[in-house]
Amino acid sequence: MPGLYDMHTHSRHSHDSTEPLEAMCIAARAAGLGGITFTDHLDLGPHPTHDWPAMLSGSIREATEMAARHAPHLRVLRGVEVGEPLCNPQAAERILRDYALDVVVMGIHSADRQNDLCRLDHTTLDTDVMLERYFAELRTMAEWEGYDVLAHIGYPLRYIRRDRGVDWDLAPYTAQIDAVMAVVAGTDRALEVNTAGLNRGIGGPSADLEQLRRFKALGGRYVTLGSDAHAARFVGGGFDKGLRIIREAGFDAVTHYEGRRPCLTRI
Ligand SMILES: [Zn+2]
Ligand SMILES: [Zn+2]
Repeated sequence: MPGLYDMHTHSRHSHDSTEPLEAMCIAARAAGLGGITFTDHLDLGPHPTHDWPAMLSGSIREATEMAARHAPHLRVLRGVEVGEPLCNPQAAERILRDYALDVVVMGIHSADRQNDLCRLDHTTLDTDVMLERYFAELRTMAEWEGYDVLAHIGYPLRYIRRDRGVDWDLAPYTAQIDAVMAVVAGTDRALEVNTAGLNRGIGGPSADLEQLRRFKALGGRYVTLGSDAHAARFVGGGFDKGLRIIREAGFDAVTHYEGRRPCLTRI
């Protein structure tokens, strides 16, 4: 569907991407998107982003240049993906105070504040213990007041699937996940449908249909779509399926953020 915004992408300003912003914007236009938001990694937890003020300034500066270059065909927005903000509340505050951002996405990547789950071998660790800790950590971080969107609520599933080759059943964690979504809904923030699992062949959308339904039942109003692309070929990937489950869950709009305010597009 034309006109959608990809609200979660990474460029060469992230530690795990080398992609120029220009290539990402060209891909977004080719995919028929209405907008793209750069949300480069700014981790404050186990592996803090080295020299993050320079990273964030660079990302914002280039996104601003891209916005001028691609208008009026594509909106280019300025964001950030903050990881584990409560590990360094002073830095988290500074991000909000000193940088002009369209959106702050919060992405939690660790269950123990020591290791990113993507760097662990999930065949050897106790998955149930890890998941219980991960959702407890999400619940703690959800209290941070600085974010607009909660990213990839089922992040661990990507790496369980990668290492064990199976989709793990999150039913035992329903109460923990609902507690997280209740905070997001209760503070009128957005839940992301992250399509990276679809893009990379390591699982389904996150949030999934069932979680979206529960988010709506908890009073959630805002849902964003994000490819989590770290390379141009993944921009907007999996959005057909993402849009389908958003509709199926009963939402009649998707959300993007400008100047940290939600903007709705009817679907
Ligand atoms: Zn993330
Ligand atoms: Zn990301």
